[in-house]
Amino acid sequence: MTEQAPKKVDMEKVVSLCRRRGFIFPSSEIYGGLSSCWDYGPLGVELKRNIKDAWWRAMVQERDDMVGLDASIMMHPQTWAASGHLEGFVDPLVECKSCHRRWRSDDLEGDNCPSCGGELTESRLFNLMFKTFMGPVEEEASVVYLRPETAQGIFVNFQNVLNTTRRRLPFGIAQVGKAFRNEITTGNFIFRSREFEQMEIEFFVKPGTDQEWFNYWIEERLNWYVKLGIKRANLKLRQHGKEELAHYARDCYDINYLFPMGWSELEGIANRGDFDLVQHASFSGKSMDYFDDETKEHFIPYIIEPSAGVDRSVLAFLCDAYDEEPDEDEIRVLLHLHPSLAPIKVAVLPLSRREKLAGVAKQIYADLRQCWMVSYDDAQSIGRRYRRQDEIGTPFCVTVDFQSLEDEQVTIRERDTMNQIRVPISELKKILQAKLKGESLFVLPPGGMIWKVEREEGG
Ligand code: ATP
Repeated sequence: MTEQAPKKVDMEKVVSLCRRRGFIFPSSEIYGGLSSCWDYGPLGVELKRNIKDAWWRAMVQERDDMVGLDASIMMHPQTWAASGHLEGFVDPLVECKSCHRRWRSDDLEGDNCPSCGGELTESRLFNLMFKTFMGPVEEEASVVYLRPETAQGIFVNFQNVLNTTRRRLPFGIAQVGKAFRNEITTGNFIFRSREFEQMEIEFFVKPGTDQEWFNYWIEERLNWYVKLGIKRANLKLRQHGKEELAHYARDCYDINYLFPMGWSELEGIANRGDFDLVQHASFSGKSMDYFDDETKEHFIPYIIEPSAGVDRSVLAFLCDAYDEEPDEDEIRVLLHLHPSLAPIKVAVLPLSRREKLAGVAKQIYADLRQCWMVSYDDAQSIGRRYRRQDEIGTPFCVTVDFQSLEDEQVTIRERDTMNQIRVPISELKKILQAKLKGESLFVLPPGGMIWKVEREEGG
């Protein structure tokens, strides 16, 4: 197989599709929107949930060395002193003296404002954590922070999980949840926002085995994206230089994706050594030791952290799936989403709204909805309806026609190939189940029927 060349898609096309079809809206749009905050619409919420579910399934459910956690967003303020965020989670900020726009000075290419060319102020350090107050009194003593990463909730629960699950090293704790960063500059759609979601693993290992596990997790995480359909050519690993390593990291690789604006970070995988547990032991006075009952040693585990962004994954999966195919006098826009990620798995399309046909179609719709997100569409021509489903990535359409009333069969039409097969209604669920799993061999129904495979002109 020849390796495909990297391919960038136009961001405007993806944003427009997301707006048009209800994947993603600007937050509080009726008030003019809130800068860098986004709302996931009916299709976006499904896609996002499917991504998180796929991650949880592969990283927690199917592994015997991982458990889950859901820690609170607000944590004891000492957490952030220990983690280094109070002191070190800062970006250098400059402001334009003319237009008052603010910039991250380490992002700027020149000495003047990139927007109006005005003079810039001296750079000052700006802490990215959102501050709020716990309880009714707004005073310094009641300050709490919205977590800027989910990781710290895992570190502070290390002993709780260890003691209640009787885990032995190596093992990991996984968590999916919101994080907040008061980023100076945001943009590129959902790529950089101030409220976002992370999928993080903290994998605890014996010191000395950390390099091996670090390599393992880089490979494992890269493969996860590829298995779910991202083209390998659009993914690249980038090792952090010594000077750019975060204060806690011994080594770090980014998984970069070829986003519309260029190669950018999708996920970071860091070898955090024992930094976090040592810090929390010192600030809390509680032991973070692990006792190895084979060697009878006490030690603080090292941590390998694969940290992925949910929203950046949504954007990467959308960009990678986006495609336009010339089709007669129109362009067929489609999302080649992996079936497990597609917001809607099956669309049921009766050829006409006539009662007899609608009755059968609605029954099929009700039956399939027990298993998947299914949509029902009886408006406009069948060709238009196929296009609408292609555009949102629905892998299969089930068409109910007048012949269905006689032969009790329906047509399954595939999104990518536009191939059509005719199947008995009684076998429909089983066949869709197999097809959604990517299986191509089906059990023939009693009577050994052979399904007709044909390509319909014009899809
Ligand atoms: P960047 O360099 O792009 O600011 P980072 O290195 O600070 O990212 P990490 O602290 O490693 O990011 O966070 C882990 C993951 O969380 C990132 O790979 C990304 O997917 C996601 N993430 C971080 N910041 C944001 C943000 N502002 N908006 C959306 N996702 C984010």
